[in-house]
Formats: sequence, structure tokens, C-alpha cells
Amino acid sequence: MGRSSKDKRDIYYRLAKEEGWRARSAFKLLQLDQEFNLFTGVNRAVDLCAAPGSWSQVLSRKLRGQEEKAEKGEEVKIVAVDLQAMAPLPGVTQIQGDITKVSTAQEIIRHFEGQPADLVVCDGAPDVTGLHDVDEYIQAQLLLAALNITTHVLKPGGTFVAKIFRGKDVTLLYSQLKIFFSGVTCAKPRSSRNSSIEAFVVCQNYSPPEGYVPNMSNPLLDHSYDVDFNQLDGPNRVIVPFLACGDLSAFDSDRTYPLQLHADKQYQYTPPAQPPICPPYQQACHLRKNNLLSREDALSVGPSQRPEPP
Ligand code: SAM
Repeated sequence: MGRSSKDKRDIYYRLAKEEGWRARSAFKLLQLDQEFNLFTGVNRAVDLCAAPGSWSQVLSRKLRGQEEKAEKGEEVKIVAVDLQAMAPLPGVTQIQGDITKVSTAQEIIRHFEGQPADLVVCDGAPDVTGLHDVDEYIQAQLLLAALNITTHVLKPGGTFVAKIFRGKDVTLLYSQLKIFFSGVTCAKPRSSRNSSIEAFVVCQNYSPPEGYVPNMSNPLLDHSYDVDFNQLDGPNRVIVPFLACGDLSAFDSDRTYPLQLHADKQYQYTPPAQPPICPPYQQACHLRKNNLLSREDALSVGPSQRPEPP
């Protein structure tokens, strides 16, 4: 693929580079904010599954850029968590860790000096296998892990935003979220392709069941706390509002646009703002480039014996 053909095919990929975002996903959070006003009054925010960091960039620019906060002397704290290392960002503390671990929750709380977060966002995604059922299942598990860690760190009344795959079991996830939040909306930003089952749950007003003790077990399997599932109509069926968001004049992520967008501005290729510093696919790229992928000896050697990636 030529350097500019992806720019043509994916307008948000191109705009991300031109505006200095590390990934096109930045626009998804910006468009969610347009609809839900997510950042008002937020001083402590957590970005779960943050690498390469475009959502953290949005948090950093939006929260730290608010002049009235600086005037009032309010301190903004942002914590980004990912399994992968991420290039540094101004005002963002990184935790290289796993969101399924209670130790990660403890580390976040330590950084906030015992104060709870106002906002938790999670754009987490497992490596997609292409097997839809498996991908949906793993995504759901990641969302529940994000919900679990959120119950440790979020303040009552706080907001949780997370990526969700609208697969066949999605109503079960909605009902789970409704136990912890009085407002749950499924939102589809214009920068998220219609052809993708991806959407985002915006969960407002965190209000856990009385006596709920945060834990890291899977809440879908753990019914040890006292919640009346029968109050829900049908088998845990909850209908949540579905909202398309992002200005209607915004670019359509499913369309292909010409490289020359404006008559008065010549197209110029822009390199990515910040490529991932140590992506998990680096090893595979190296093996493929050197025609080593199909060789048994390449796959059977242990990590320390593998050739150093470029
Ligand atoms: N929001 C990011 C941005 O705007 O740059 C993109 C996130 S990317 C789609 C998904 C990330 O989820 C990957 O970086 C991956 O390492 C992370 N991830 C997946 N499982 C995780 C886990 N259990 N703990 C922490 N991070 C995880």
C-alpha cells in the first residue's frame, strides 16, 4: 500500500496525523465528549488500555488546558494503564500493568493519594482473531475487567466510558452495567465505522449496590452480592438508549475521500504522530520481513534466543 493510499481510504487516520494525535481513536473520545460533556468538573481521570496514547492525549489537552482550573489552583491528575509501554505525555502518569489485577487498582489509588477518580475511560481491545464469537467474548471479558477495576477507583456519581462490541450477548453486559450506573447509553461516534460492531457505553452516575465490596472476580459469574436480577424484564434484558454522536457535518468514517480535501490547500503526506514504541506485533513483523515466519526453528526458539527486532 502506498504511503498516501491509507490517507485516502481512512479520513480519520489522516486527520489524526495532521492534528498530531497518536491514533485515529482520539476522534471517538472527542465526539463522545461533544455529546456527553465528559470532561466538565473532572480533575482525576484514568485511561485504561491506553497505548499508544491518543485518548490520554485528549485527556491531557482537555483537562490540563482548562484555564479556570489553573486559576482555581486545582490539580489535574491523569493515569494511563496498558500492558504495553507508551511514549511519555505531558501530565500523564503511566502504569505498565494489567487491568485485571487488583495491584493495578491499588497503584492508581496511590497515585491519586487515596482520592477517587472522577472519570474512567477504557478503549481496551484484545488482539482480534477474526473469529467473531471469540473476539466478542474476549472483548466482553475485557469490559468486565475494566468495570471491576473501575469499581475500585471511581467516585460515586462518576462516569465510566468503555468500548463495547454489539454482539449477540450485549444485553447481558448492559444489565451488568445498569447495576452500577443509573445512566447507561450506547453511543456510536461518527469516527467509528458503521461496518464495525464497535460502540461505546457511556455509564453515568456511578452508584454501586449497597454493601457492594469492589473485587476483581468476573461479576457475570459472581452473584455473591445482593442484586435482584429478577427486577429486570426477561432474562436480564435491559434496553439502553442508542445514540449516534459527533456533529453531522463531521467526516463519515465509512467513506473514501479524495486526497485534496480543500481547493486552496495542497495535500501533503504527514508521518504518524507517535508510532507505538514496543508493539506486540513487532516480533511477527521482523520474522515475516526476514521470511522466518514459516520456519519451525524460528517459532520454537525461546524469547531470549529470538533475533532482536529492528
Ligand atoms: N485508546 C488507545 C489510544 O487511543 O491510543 C488505543 C487502545 S488499543 C485499541 C487497545 C489497548 O488495550 C492495547 O494497547 C492493549 O495493550 C491494551 N490491553 C489489552 N488488554 C489489556 C489488559 N488486560 N490490561 C491493560 N491493557 C490491555
